Amino acid sequence: MSMNNVSLETKCVQAGYRPGNGEPRQIPIVQSTTFKYDTSEDMGKLFDLEASGYFYTRLQNPTNDYVAAKIAELEGGTAGMLTSSGQAANFFALFNICECGSHIVASSSIYGGTFNLISVTLKKMGIDVTFVSPDSTEEELDAAFQENTRAMFGETIANPALTVLDIEKFANAAHRHGVPLIIDNTFPTPVNCRPIEWGADIVTHSTTKYIDGHGATVGGAIVDAGKFDWMAHADKFPGLCTPDESYHGITYAEKFGKEGAFITKCTAQLMRDFGAIQSPQHAFILNLGLESLHVRMPKHVENGQAVAEFLSEHPKVVKVNYSGLPSDPYYKLAQKYLPNGGCGVVSFELAGGRAAAETFMKNLKIAAIETHVADARTCCLNPATSTHRQLSDEQLKAAGIPAGLIRISCGLEDKEDLIADIAQALDAI
Ligand SMILES: *Cc1c(COP(=O)(O)O)cnc(C)c1O
Repeated sequence: MSMNNVSLETKCVQAGYRPGNGEPRQIPIVQSTTFKYDTSEDMGKLFDLEASGYFYTRLQNPTNDYVAAKIAELEGGTAGMLTSSGQAANFFALFNICECGSHIVASSSIYGGTFNLISVTLKKMGIDVTFVSPDSTEEELDAAFQENTRAMFGETIANPALTVLDIEKFANAAHRHGVPLIIDNTFPTPVNCRPIEWGADIVTHSTTKYIDGHGATVGGAIVDAGKFDWMAHADKFPGLCTPDESYHGITYAEKFGKEGAFITKCTAQLMRDFGAIQSPQHAFILNLGLESLHVRMPKHVENGQAVAEFLSEHPKVVKVNYSGLPSDPYYKLAQKYLPNGGCGVVSFELAGGRAAAETFMKNLKIAAIETHVADARTCCLNPATSTHRQLSDEQLKAAGIPAGLIRISCGLEDKEDLIADIAQALDAI
């Protein structure tokens, strides 16, 4: 039976690796930097991309490829690769099609690390950006594009703002301007949303979060939908549509087609030159988490929903952000893109501001204070006293991060225990 026709649940458990007769049932950890060949000619073919195979783990390793293939199948893409972190995944996804002189249109509601990557580091490399509100109208989106725009970027559910992106609207805008839409799908995971089904061309992940799910490994992934017609926009994407002299003059979009060009180029050039590979050990551990992703996500959602509902009725809480609440501004979009729920991350503002947040967090017994989300264990963070502690209360307010804001990532514990823990910590304020 082909893995194409089975459900997402079965893919989580078994896709990506099909052992042959007498081969290991679990994916083998290929703990080897190099691979042996009988003749230089055999190896030469790999260096020319004339044959597929492994020669050095900085570029590719079988263990990583099993896991990347599984994530690609889950997202409904044609090719995938793992990276050493989510940051590396987003950098590679963008830099694979952008160069000095290019321009990116990005949602302003994205992960802080990615915002910094785009607005500071890519800027130093000569790549410009226009940030747009995730709530932009079609006209506002159109106005952000320039002649040198090469990519559009957004997050399905933004970390930490928890806004929900209208993926179809963003995809249509990107395609009207002849560029691909790159979606960071870290928070919902393919279990709760598959952006390719809504028009996204490239999907990225910080696998550090729910895909690993146990706070054990830092990693990233990139998946290509295999749908974007690079050759139809060859003037915009010379890296994919003109010969690469470092590989005997092959043209990626011709030789590997829509299905394979993006990931092949990303591996052959960016992995070769930047080396942000995931270790095969980590890929193996990542896959242990991935095998239960479809079992875990509904539980994270159930706990997130229960905690959000409890908080929304509590007198010491002034505001709750969770797209599963009918009162949330993103509820309607969530009904469309996240019919089974989004994730377990909830944010809320305490009436008592910074001091109340400190007292609340100090009194939690089950939830731990951590700079992390999407773990089996519930954790929380007050940006004003941690990630954003250099900002004054006025600056925090201007940045849309009130001093009393708390982000809580609901884990896999019993929801009544989580609510009881939150209730007693609220009572201590
Ligand atoms: C954490 C995160 C990243 C960065 O991933 P790392 O694995 O920490 O490098 C990127 N995007 C989103 C949405 C994230 O939550």
